[in-house]
Amino acid sequence: MRVLVVEDEKKTAAFIRRALQDEGFLVDVCHSGDAALSAASAASFDAVVLDIMLPGLDGLGVLRAWRSAGRVTPVLLLSARGDVNERVAGLDAGADDYLGKPFVIAELSARVRALVRRAGDTKTTMLTVADLSLDTIRRQASRSGTAVELTTREFRLLEYLMRSPGRVCSRMALLEAVWDCHFDPGTNVVDVTIKRLREKIDAGFQPKLVQTVRGLGYAITIIE
Ligand code: CA
Repeated sequence: MRVLVVEDEKKTAAFIRRALQDEGFLVDVCHSGDAALSAASAASFDAVVLDIMLPGLDGLGVLRAWRSAGRVTPVLLLSARGDVNERVAGLDAGADDYLGKPFVIAELSARVRALVRRAGDTKTTMLTVADLSLDTIRRQASRSGTAVELTTREFRLLEYLMRSPGRVCSRMALLEAVWDCHFDPGTNVVDVTIKRLREKIDAGFQPKLVQTVRGLGYAITIIE
């Protein structure tokens, strides 16, 4: 389950990220409305936590753009001003829920869980790329029908890559999303885990699915 958090206050964003990761969500963070639009067109999310007050395009602008483009991802709006007019404007713009700041983090987590659960009926929990399948509920992976045993970290890495097949993910993006590491740890932990993943899902199979894009990062896709 992947959540996008859009909040320009870095401490608040980090706090929300941590809480949602503790709930088992994969979390991407953006600090502006424009970055949120790019993130949402590059990947699919199960829910979005969207702050209204953002530099440049604000949260309501982002939400209107998504809804007019037919994007139905559930959105929890956050606002420093808990006034009724803003709440109404948010719901009119297509928000699914609304939370005023300051909020209790447990309430935010509970609301995100509820949004994801409500959307769950229409959501894909079975990810596939070629003959590689990932069942995100049962936490099972298989290639050509053969079960593949993965560690929790390998599973999270593979899920992150398979949620947007073909997207090249940088080492830093993977460190943040999978390891919750927001600085360069100076180790090759991503490369090592990718190597193990490759041994498990690509060795002995064709086509190869784990791709290295030199200088950029990694992707899961079929190279024609
Ligand atoms: Ca803000």
